[in-house]
Amino acid sequence: MFGKVLIANRGEIALRVHRACQEMGIRTVAVHSTADATAMHVRLADESVCIGPPNARESYLNTAAILSAATITGADAVHPGYGFLSENARFAEMVEAHGLKFIGPSPDHIRMMGDKIAAKDAMRRLDVPLVPGSPGALDSYEEARAIADEIKYPVLIKAAAGGGGRGMKVARSADELEEAWRVARAEAKAAFGDDSVYMEKYLDRPRHIELQVLADTHGNVVHFGERDCSLQRRHQKLVEEAGSPVLTAADREALGSRVTTALAQLGYRNAGTLEFLWQDGQFAFIEMNTRLQVEHPVTEMVCGIDLVKEQIRIAAGEPLGYAQNDIQFRGHAIECRITAEDPETFTPSPGRVNTYHAPGGLGVRVDSALYSGYTVPPHYDSLVAKLVVHAPTRTAAISRMRRALAEMVVAGIRTTLPLHQAVMEDPEFQSGDYTIHWLERFVAERQK
Ligand code: ADP
Repeated sequence: MFGKVLIANRGEIALRVHRACQEMGIRTVAVHSTADATAMHVRLADESVCIGPPNARESYLNTAAILSAATITGADAVHPGYGFLSENARFAEMVEAHGLKFIGPSPDHIRMMGDKIAAKDAMRRLDVPLVPGSPGALDSYEEARAIADEIKYPVLIKAAAGGGGRGMKVARSADELEEAWRVARAEAKAAFGDDSVYMEKYLDRPRHIELQVLADTHGNVVHFGERDCSLQRRHQKLVEEAGSPVLTAADREALGSRVTTALAQLGYRNAGTLEFLWQDGQFAFIEMNTRLQVEHPVTEMVCGIDLVKEQIRIAAGEPLGYAQNDIQFRGHAIECRITAEDPETFTPSPGRVNTYHAPGGLGVRVDSALYSGYTVPPHYDSLVAKLVVHAPTRTAAISRMRRALAEMVVAGIRTTLPLHQAVMEDPEFQSGDYTIHWLERFVAERQK
């Protein structure tokens, strides 16, 4: 097992990885920008290294500085968390070239899944069902026209290098196609430096359901059931649940066995999530994330397994040590992503948190790097806390979340706590009958 792990991230996820390492008797190295000198992840780590100025490009994305920090401190592995360098195949290669272990999949798999066209191609060959669309990148507007006519409107133009919902545009009719084509490509170029786009049928009432998997280096692949992440705003998740209110155990089994078979054929290793849209009882693959996800805690709560420890064990070459049948799903878990934003306009609200009080009690978990007196810097993602609850049933989990939200105090900045409270109180949300478009309408109603 590793003696020391460098955590190439910040905020709650850096803390999350630190906690796993600590329980495993592994020392940790935190890296931080000058803006994060007093951050909780720096305070708790065994050692820390400043890697640059606030701008992430010069610090948390600064490969040379991170690798130097790893070398100087004598770390033997790097955990990338999510975001930043976690899906950068080149970074994974460089970590390994420096004689360190990258706690994640192989660079080849990161590269393959990072190109959404290549990812869909791979899944097609492995018999995983896909959203209907273009067979590959769209070479011209004329080709886009022809495919849209074939699969029928509405259609979605998506960036091959996409992420975070950027470079994605809907065309509801032929009149809207040219604009969608132009804007999606311009956005993709600006965000990812790559204007390759492809087309998918735009599903009008799907749910977002994803499957968590782990694979070791000995050929074992298991899944940990699904997460329902249908509550989204601008294609970004706000609330996640495990399991999905609409899936049966048989649906989960069928999807799980298809996916684990596919990943075993691919020779995949470490953690991964396959994202699907689910409509009319059918699953359609949209993308695979080759890293730990923000919403992984809901899976941990229902399966009683620490996914980060498993990632570390796998990277160290240990076999999983359990089979699919050993993984049991118990109760229901919900996560609310609490961000430093105005709960109605979503304007960022960084600044000093005068008072922070985390809720507690049975079945409540808070993953956060906040503390009273901490200043949320304006330079990074606005996520400040993940409030997670676990209870025997979905109804009990919602009651527990309402209680926990009411206890939580983040004073001094605006947060999305009131929005989460309103969602939990809503009868439609409580019924479990909603699609990926539900929250957008809910937010618009509140803004009136
Ligand atoms: P990104 O990598 O940018 O997050 P995804 O492909 O994961 O992009 O899609 C993000 C979200 O966009 C999905 O969860 C879903 O809400 C919506 N979406 C993606 N593809 C489709 C589609 N074909 N039809 C309808 N909604 C879609």
